[in-house]
Amino acid sequence: MAVLEIIKLGHPTLSKKAASIQHIDEEIFELAHNMIETMHAAPGLGLSAPQLDVSRRLITVDLSIGENKEDLIVLVNPELVHQEGQVIREEGCLSIPEVYEKIARPQKIVIKGLDLEGKEKEIEATDLLARVFCHEVDHLNGRLFIDGLSSLKKNLIKKRFKKKAESSKR
Ligand SMILES: [Zn+2]
Repeated sequence: MAVLEIIKLGHPTLSKKAASIQHIDEEIFELAHNMIETMHAAPGLGLSAPQLDVSRRLITVDLSIGENKEDLIVLVNPELVHQEGQVIREEGCLSIPEVYEKIARPQKIVIKGLDLEGKEKEIEATDLLARVFCHEVDHLNGRLFIDGLSSLKKNLIKKRFKKKAESSKR
């Protein structure tokens, strides 16, 4: 297991639709464990495989950031099957550090997927947990939370990150 680098805004993998996982093999197992370690180290409440530059449909979520084992959720090929209500709250992303913006998300969701043993899971989530699931599923569809902002705001943030990436290359 290893803590891996989280790719940042501007990286092409972040805007790609991730591919479904057909077999939960050793490679997926290792990816999931690296994601958990990286998410806990960041620290973050959730992570998606594309953020480690792996364009596959896998997410990890842990509102306790490693405090409670029961809070850790790994979902293969997650799919939102129900959404209701709306909550506007500030949100951030490990791939867009230091940017926090108010974003509308459903208050309640139902999400389906497989665990690492290939067992079907259906989870009902509200408020913050629902928000984190929606955020991570968006990553699998090449969507970032700033995509919901006005294009003016979005372009400002993108410009800022372009500058940062250029200065770190020097
Ligand atoms: Zn994110």
